Amino acid sequence: MTDVRPWPAWPTHTARTERHLLAALRSGRWAVSGAHTGGESYEQAFATAFADFLGVSHAVPTCNGSAALTIALEALGVRAGDEVLIPGLTWVACASTVLRVGAVPVLVDVDPDTLCMSAAAAEAAITPRTRAVMAVHLFGSAVDLDAMTALTRRHDLALLEDCSHVHGATWRGARLGSFGDAAAFSLQQTKLLTCGEGGVAVTSDPAVHDLLYRKRVDGRRRRADAPVGELELVELPGVQGYNYCMSEFNAAVALDGLSRLDEENARRRRSMRRLEELLEGFDGARPLTRPDGLTADAAYQYCVRLDPAVFGPGAKDAVAASLSRELGVQVEPIDSALHRNVLYQPLTSGWAGRTDGGRARELDPARFELPHAEFAGENAVVIPHRVFLAPPERMELVLSGLEKARAQAVSS
Ligand SMILES: *Cc1c(COP(=O)(O)O)cnc(C)c1O
Repeated sequence: MTDVRPWPAWPTHTARTERHLLAALRSGRWAVSGAHTGGESYEQAFATAFADFLGVSHAVPTCNGSAALTIALEALGVRAGDEVLIPGLTWVACASTVLRVGAVPVLVDVDPDTLCMSAAAAEAAITPRTRAVMAVHLFGSAVDLDAMTALTRRHDLALLEDCSHVHGATWRGARLGSFGDAAAFSLQQTKLLTCGEGGVAVTSDPAVHDLLYRKRVDGRRRRADAPVGELELVELPGVQGYNYCMSEFNAAVALDGLSRLDEENARRRRSMRRLEELLEGFDGARPLTRPDGLTADAAYQYCVRLDPAVFGPGAKDAVAASLSRELGVQVEPIDSALHRNVLYQPLTSGWAGRTDGGRARELDPARFELPHAEFAGENAVVIPHRVFLAPPERMELVLSGLEKARAQAVSS
């Protein structure tokens, strides 16, 4: 008989979330740039709690993950004309933010087992203009941080981790996001930790922190001794910034969600392990490899790779549609590799300028060869993390959904 129980809801909140939100509303201070009320702002409280959670010295909340990536790139010294290595398979914001700071996104192929940026391919892509590596941990796996930290040290490159898929995961016991010179997280509605729209940039370097803080609040700096009724921000020269701040409402919700993250990830892990047991006996679909260093995994979207010999080539759309119908939850086709992705349009974005000179040539996605990213980007589906908040025994539904999708593929 079909199991018709709904999947756990996402996002979640409790009575405590409502208390926090109401307290922010009634406090009269709704933003970093609102007058000091005497108490600590939610934004500051969340920053401290998130830094403690990760084991880093500083966190700077932002209005979204893209803003966190943008200020992190700038704070790490990426300038117009620099090259930044990014994986060929990732969300388009990784490339857009590199463009936004005037730099050149250099697409690097992924490791076929983890689907994260290959350190060997990254090394081969380094030129004298390379300034930074954006290491994006994706789909429940992770970049090989042993190899990647050694590489960036050897070549004197900045390492920026994008942890928007992996809040709370650990590498050799330390949280992802604590390895880079800086790291960025998205807190958008569908992520593992969310406040609707939001982001965080983190670092343990005080000079980088000063830049992160100031760049997201139009160059201003916080003073600790602000009198009640006045701004905590002071204007001073030196840093060009933007308004990328997180509101007090968002910070109140994020602070509350953080207290549930570890427990939710542990639940998801039990169900992910169960699905992996079931997939062992299934011909044609398999999970990603988790590198040895990944001591606790976390998955925003869980990737299931499809064997084209069984499902047919490029089966991601059909399988995602079939699984979505079977499970009653939206399973998505994996995003295509960036150089094949409809959302990545650097040549018409304005960033290539008015002439078709060198800038257009170096931004042209067609110049990259990314065989592993290209293959993976057509032959996988991603399951949203709320499915794994359900108990392990419900993973049999996912397997029977895959069985149906395979039967349809074989008969068509
Ligand atoms: C979601 C996401 C982002 C962008 O975050 P926004 O909050 O949507 O700006 C960046 N990188 C990755 C890998 C993401 O998944």
